[in-house]
Amino acid sequence: MLEDLFQMVKTRLAEETSPDSKLRGKDKVNIPSGLLFQCPRCRSVDFMEDFEKAGKVCQKCSYHARLTAAERLSFTADAGSFIEYDRNMTSKNPIDFKGYEAKLKELRTQTGLNDAVVTGECTIKGQRCVLAVMDSHFMMASMGSVVGEKIARAFERATEQHLPVIIFTASGGARMQEGIVSLMQMAKTSAAAARHSKAGNLYITVLTDPTTGGVTASFAMLGDIIIAEPKVLVGFAGRRVIEDTIKQHLPDEFQSAEFLLSHGFVDMIVPRARMTDTLSQLLEMHGKGGAADE
Ligand SMILES: [Zn+2]
Repeated sequence: MLEDLFQMVKTRLAEETSPDSKLRGKDKVNIPSGLLFQCPRCRSVDFMEDFEKAGKVCQKCSYHARLTAAERLSFTADAGSFIEYDRNMTSKNPIDFKGYEAKLKELRTQTGLNDAVVTGECTIKGQRCVLAVMDSHFMMASMGSVVGEKIARAFERATEQHLPVIIFTASGGARMQEGIVSLMQMAKTSAAAARHSKAGNLYITVLTDPTTGGVTASFAMLGDIIIAEPKVLVGFAGRRVIEDTIKQHLPDEFQSAEFLLSHGFVDMIVPRARMTDTLSQLLEMHGKGGAADE
């Protein structure tokens, strides 16, 4: 009987993976690249153009796809207003991690970025602020010396100019290739955020998918106002690590933005379509932005 079952599974697998099979991928549509978008969550298909016009959000289930830093900037900052800081800062290989330099080089070519965060100042609907955007396409936006230094400098410049700071976070955590140096960035960024706060300035974080590890444990959770995009993953350690440690099953919604909202870790969940308006309103209400023409 077991042999029969094994044979059945094997045949089914062969059918599903054969190139001309009708069963292949079952509900997966054969999509000409770049023309259509199939949502990984609800499987519905939309024109790529419409999906992109909607800010890379699925119109059926509100799935928010991950954005590059450039895309996020184009949705957020007023056109032509962004002045980038520290664009050419690049990482060394502080613990001589094998293959790290080659990996960085490859990613720089692939993404057009020097590291996993873009920082600078801009206006958002006329409100001035310092803006940092992390990009998960660069080594899962892990925090090494460059990410930490750029974030810290962004806070320092904002403090000098009495400007609010907005950070779109995304991260897999500390960058293990930089060992202890990456862990030190948690203290450095947190101290810079504290000085900015003590000087009476506003700091808003926007948690995007995924925000985890040392970034969650430092500047991501220090915002005066913490916003999240819908259904993003936010956590410190991974689910399996926690379950294995505490020997308990965690709720399904654990580490979702909605779960964090209901437990008081997040102040509001804002869909991407309303993000820029929400940010500009918050900047205006807190009165530290100052209109660009002042
Ligand atoms: Zn969808």
